[in-house]
Amino acid sequence: MSRESTLRFGAQTDEVTSLLRIVNLVRTGEAATRPEIGRVTGLGRGVVTQRVDQAIDMGFLADGEYGPSSGGRAPRTLRFRSEQGRIIVCAFGALHIRVGIASLDGDIIDDRHIGWDIARGPAETIDRALELADEILARHEDVPVWGVAVGIPGPVDFDSGRPVAPPIMPGWNGFDMRRRFEERFDAPTWVDNDVNLLAFSERSRRQDERLDLIFFKVGTGIGAGLLSQGRIHRGANGAAGDVGHVRVLESNSQCRCGKVGCLEAEAGGWALVRDAERAVADGAGGTLARDAADGEPITPQAIAIAAMNGDALAISLIQRSARLVGESIAALVNMFNPAVIVVGGAVSSAGEVFLAEVRQRVYELSLPLATRDLAIVRSLGDEREPLRGGAEMVREQLFETTFPRWFAEGRPTIRDVMPAAS
Ligand SMILES: [Zn+2]
Repeated sequence: MSRESTLRFGAQTDEVTSLLRIVNLVRTGEAATRPEIGRVTGLGRGVVTQRVDQAIDMGFLADGEYGPSSGGRAPRTLRFRSEQGRIIVCAFGALHIRVGIASLDGDIIDDRHIGWDIARGPAETIDRALELADEILARHEDVPVWGVAVGIPGPVDFDSGRPVAPPIMPGWNGFDMRRRFEERFDAPTWVDNDVNLLAFSERSRRQDERLDLIFFKVGTGIGAGLLSQGRIHRGANGAAGDVGHVRVLESNSQCRCGKVGCLEAEAGGWALVRDAERAVADGAGGTLARDAADGEPITPQAIAIAAMNGDALAISLIQRSARLVGESIAALVNMFNPAVIVVGGAVSSAGEVFLAEVRQRVYELSLPLATRDLAIVRSLGDEREPLRGGAEMVREQLFETTFPRWFAEGRPTIRDVMPAAS
């Protein structure tokens, strides 16, 4: 029996467990040389040598430079061969599509971005995303695709990759998104909520595997991504963190989800635009109103910028949003006890005008124990953040969740990674 088939059929043996662990230690930078691997794992020198040789044979690792010497002969470093596969990330927003490719260590190699209304439905929207992916791939060396991440602005059933009644995505409910991408790229595909991808991106940025964090996005819409001990909490139906449609007391505003009085209908970017337009129509002054009179469209970004520049109308809109958002965050803090709240999205780009108000409400309304070590910060991310998060999500799926199923093949296949789908 060849070694490969021994490994395949003995999938839960110590041999396999230590082999995969060694690949991951090198991949994550926790150990870079054979002696370090020995120290971290407690395995003997002979076993380490054997497993590392296997990992090199299988193409996962390669010998690198000689490391620093601590007296004797310098040990040779090992490196993870992140160049042998690609990750494709398609991030759908309410009004845009962003597509990127990443290496297996999560670095974004290239990306493209277009304006697009997601309400045009899944068939046309996914076609357009696939075209963008083709354009990017054509600019680069042909490397096999190992995995695909897709982010959408709505709840997803993660196991099936199907959207679940997404409020702003008419026609997408239950659509089999995974199949389209798997057929095109012949690679396992995972579909997740867009704010979950932002939480993943924070995890990779902070390099903290046991992080308790809430990413609270206040963009056009509102949503939250929850990391519990470094794991995304998706909930029973993928709806965890869908806080934009929680009811705000004493609100009668019509929400785009069909209900009345949602948080988003008062504090989301589209609600601020609605309120700003009303105020301008009622004769409000200031730079925002003047720009609107000159034909500049009022957008959440424009309101945030005007607030930073001291426009009274914009400041009052941003601060009202921040108070409501702060109240919602306070409820989450008491229930979830995160160490970090990261606030992102266009409305929060007003910076301290927004954040100071959020902090004040959270500290006022939360229990002292829950806020003792709590940091409330603004996302440092740029527009590529959903792509970084998508790559991080695929890396977790490939190398932590499904690795034992496919490693014997040397690269992930849909059949091995997604047995239920085939
Ligand atoms: Zn709603």
